[in-house]
Amino acid sequence: MVELRVFGAGVFGLSIAWEAARRGARVEVVDPFGVAAGASGGIVGALAPHVPENWNPKKQIQFESLEMAEGFWAEVAATGGSDPGYARSGRLQPILDDAGLALARARAVTAQTLWQGRYHWRVVDQAEIATPIPSPTGWLIHDSLSARIHPRRACIALADAITARGGSIMTEASQTPAITLWATGAADLAALSQAMGRNMGQGVKGQAALLAHDLGRDAPQLFVDALHIVPHADGTLAIGSTSENDFNNPTGTDEQLDALIARARLLCPVLGDAPVIARWAGLRPRARSRAPMLGVHPLAPGAFIANGGFKIGFGMAPMVARLMADLMLEGRDAIPDSFRVAANL
Ligand SMILES: Cc1cc2nc3c(=O)[nH]c(=O)nc-3n(C[C@H](O)[C@H](O)[C@H](O)COP(=O)(O)OP(=O)(O)OC[C@H]3O[C@@H](n4cnc5c(N)ncnc54)[C@H](O)[C@@H]3O)c2cc1C
Repeated sequence: MVELRVFGAGVFGLSIAWEAARRGARVEVVDPFGVAAGASGGIVGALAPHVPENWNPKKQIQFESLEMAEGFWAEVAATGGSDPGYARSGRLQPILDDAGLALARARAVTAQTLWQGRYHWRVVDQAEIATPIPSPTGWLIHDSLSARIHPRRACIALADAITARGGSIMTEASQTPAITLWATGAADLAALSQAMGRNMGQGVKGQAALLAHDLGRDAPQLFVDALHIVPHADGTLAIGSTSENDFNNPTGTDEQLDALIARARLLCPVLGDAPVIARWAGLRPRARSRAPMLGVHPLAPGAFIANGGFKIGFGMAPMVARLMADLMLEGRDAIPDSFRVAANL
């Protein structure tokens, strides 16, 4: 008998299924649309920390998840033989003005404690580093905690690792499972909101682009003016993302993406007229609380839910997998209060 059936082959469902499989459970992942058909089929993959200040349990748990990521993805790659495109390649952020410089220096101090001396947040002089992005103050922040991943390939790597451990990925459910998990992203948030007659969350559309431009395959990602510029291992470069609450076509791209690409070329002149090789859009599952929504499913009797990855679903996936496997397989509930379904009620 299958012990765990997961509905939804996005990064949440696959990561949890993988964690369960590596603990010895027989798992089945069911998605009528295939692997990475939703938000997880994207191209950006910035695994970036919260700023090191005003610490709280939510920031701590994201920090721990980012720390876990290196080992998590290495084991996925080694088990299934597919490369998720993970590297802890760091991040550069131009500092835009004097106030930003003072703040960045203060955060360099708090990072030493909050990041436990294992990663740095440093203010660096642009004259002393190779940066593809100019800074108006001449100073940038470099952090060594940020990493990148290739979202779509990471999902394929998870599916391959699950299969290698004897699990199955299907488009239709087969046998009766002991445990059921719903990790169906924006679709479930909409269904929950409708069934419960209250806002439980919604899909927030994002558009992104991939350019043929090799900034250096392990070069740090860039973050400026809310724009992510992420070099991938295959010599492509992702630019993301728009954030849209009103839209007609959840997966279509339009002039908002053109504007984003133009802004990236302006901020990062070395991009020049590098060709756009892919345009992509998807719906980020945003729970009402804006945090992951984990635990017992509020509507499906006896089932569990893992949703609300919103803008950092890939960054949170290793920790979400651990918390949900602990809960479902071992009855150990270590879910922080801010991640519970009740935080959305
Ligand atoms: C433009 C953009 C940029 C992003 N950038 C980043 C980033 O840089 N870093 C980061 O960490 N995160 C990023 N995210 C967020 C991240 O992609 C999401 O948080 C994450 O993919 C959510 O994963 P999920 O598995 O919960 O949902 P999804 O990937 O949406 O998966 C849900 C799955 O459920 C399936 N499904 C639906 N209904 C059913 C059903 N009835 N039965 C079975 N299956 C069903 C769907 O087919 C889908 O495959 C970005 C998102 C977007 C849109």
